Amino acid sequence: MRMHGGSIELSLVVPFYNEEEAVKLFFERIVPVMDSLRLRYEIVCVNDGSRDNTLAMLAAATVRHPGIVRVIDLSRNFGKEAALTAAIDHAVGRAVIPIDADLQDPPEVIPELVARWREGNEVVLAIRADRSSDTWLKRKTAEWFYRFIDHISDVDIPANAGDFRLMDRRVVDAMQLLPERARFMKGMFAWVGYKTTTVTYARAPRSAGSSKLRFWRLWNFALEGIVSFSSLPLRIWSYLGFGLALVAALYTLVVVVKTIAFGVDVPGYASIIVLLLVSSALNMIGLGIVGEYVARIFVEVKSRPIYLVRERIGLDRPRSETVRETAIRLAAE
Ligand code: UDP
Ligand code: MG
Repeated sequence: MRMHGGSIELSLVVPFYNEEEAVKLFFERIVPVMDSLRLRYEIVCVNDGSRDNTLAMLAAATVRHPGIVRVIDLSRNFGKEAALTAAIDHAVGRAVIPIDADLQDPPEVIPELVARWREGNEVVLAIRADRSSDTWLKRKTAEWFYRFIDHISDVDIPANAGDFRLMDRRVVDAMQLLPERARFMKGMFAWVGYKTTTVTYARAPRSAGSSKLRFWRLWNFALEGIVSFSSLPLRIWSYLGFGLALVAALYTLVVVVKTIAFGVDVPGYASIIVLLLVSSALNMIGLGIVGEYVARIFVEVKSRPIYLVRERIGLDRPRSETVRETAIRLAAE
């Protein structure tokens, strides 16, 4: 895989999922910026099981930009985090920059990232100065989420930093030492550490197409982040359990004393039912949380690969005839 390593200075890594409308725009914007840097670079594109024409468009890009664009075609949709992992694994540059295909991470920031890297930084974070292009709801939930997770987790996860950043080869190699299947990349990036600096930028609206991260995905993503990078949800239940046990003990004392002093009292039925319901509800929630962790242990223990590659296209890799023909035809258009 690393056969042309060494000489490539910068790798852009890009996940693509149903981005046929964005592919062309992406290369039109990114290539001039990259060329202006005057360094050897590659663009590693991962097709994350797109159901539209993305793969053909990407293959066309390998023809249009020979020696620069490479395509890793995954066997199905594995999700953005896995696609990004695949791309990073295949990158050979001295530095790697993950970037979204929809141009929401403006390519014009890249020269700045590279400049800060040359000054000796190992991680250059691109921080979103404003998210006015996102909806109010997404902005607010993201803000709350990052504040919350920063509070409860063991690592500093910078708010408003996405996957858009520059990583030195050392950092990339360190990332590859993290074998977990449940990949919360922002947390993992933070966990590896290294000499870090930041630059700020304004996040652009999507170039074309629509967001692939729907509400449910974002929710699961948030859950992943919380459970993978903090054990607070586990611990909180033991504290609550202690508190509840204390209250129960005190209440028992009250009941016993009352019964001794005033004799047997039939009412109390209601309070018993309420207590029963509350405590069994708490029990169930607690069990659910434990279940979250058990589920993750199950996933990790299975040790499945994070992604599967169907084919690699571009540079010195052979590619199947049909993909090749379409690529050449599309490139000519
Ligand atoms: N993406 C992917 N696999 C997925 C979902 C998204 O590779 O299952 C890619 C997508 O093509 C894009 C990036 O991840 O390049 C970010 O996705 P999107 O723009 O939909 O997310 P948002 O910007 O809304 O957070
Ligand atoms: Mg986007």
